[in-house]
Amino acid sequence: MIDGITGIHHITALAGDAVRTDTFYTRMLGQRRVKKTVNFDAPEVYHLYYGDRVGTPGTVMTCFPFPDIGPARHGTGEVGHIAYAVPEGALKDWARQHRGARHDTAFDEARLHLTGPDGEAILLVESESTVGQVWAETLDARIAPRGFHSAALRVADGEGMDELLRLMGYVSVGTEGSVTRYRVHGKRASLIDLDLRPEMPHAMAGAGSVHHIAFAVPDDATQLRAREALIAAGYEVTQVIDRSYFGAIYFQTPGGILFEIATDEPGFETDEPVASLGEALVLPPQYEALRGHLEDFLPPL
Ligand code: ZN
Repeated sequence: MIDGITGIHHITALAGDAVRTDTFYTRMLGQRRVKKTVNFDAPEVYHLYYGDRVGTPGTVMTCFPFPDIGPARHGTGEVGHIAYAVPEGALKDWARQHRGARHDTAFDEARLHLTGPDGEAILLVESESTVGQVWAETLDARIAPRGFHSAALRVADGEGMDELLRLMGYVSVGTEGSVTRYRVHGKRASLIDLDLRPEMPHAMAGAGSVHHIAFAVPDDATQLRAREALIAAGYEVTQVIDRSYFGAIYFQTPGGILFEIATDEPGFETDEPVASLGEALVLPPQYEALRGHLEDFLPPL
């Protein structure tokens, strides 16, 4: 078994319009934009990061806005929903602002179903979870999300995924309907819901799709051990890739969902001070020469 995975690190989605995405995560969900940079593989596309005050792993949603991509077709082989934890009692206030939003209960927790900037399913779940340092600039701290509660992995067949989650240190803690819940030993964003939906079509990527979900390990050494264990179990895993704010390895899962394992270090304060995180366009050294062009080309946020 892999030792040292502590929960979700970040979730990365494909988006349509950059301004709409930015408005949703900052104004509506009350997250802090903790980094404004570009896609390291395609610099004319933003890479925007939203999280708590410092971008604590377990709170970080990241988006690649591609203005011209079509909408996603949702189905299996993708992350089905993203759930944020909100304080006990907060859903009353959220429901007042989002009249008509669906309410339900799962695993004894109350949930409110919201729709993201490109139609993605975003849930708010009342939970005691206290990830990170709440950013209460836009929303009252009594209702502001406290990082991820969980994410749902929607797959046609669960067998390989169950094995993989167990290899990653998760244990199943219960089943409701099509969903089996798994928990890993960690303080932050430690739940994963595996949703078996063989009747659904396979998902097709587009605006509103999650591109990948990343799981957190504390440091480089733990990441290398995780990589070796995955390779020993038959997975094809990338080399460690430097993403400036964390090291990343990626591998494809049996359920068709791309997984990443990312380090908690060095974090978002590595290239700008906490006081002004996410305000200026930050570029990796290889794109600094393109700064003038990118600042003209990318829509102002
Ligand atoms: Zn990632």
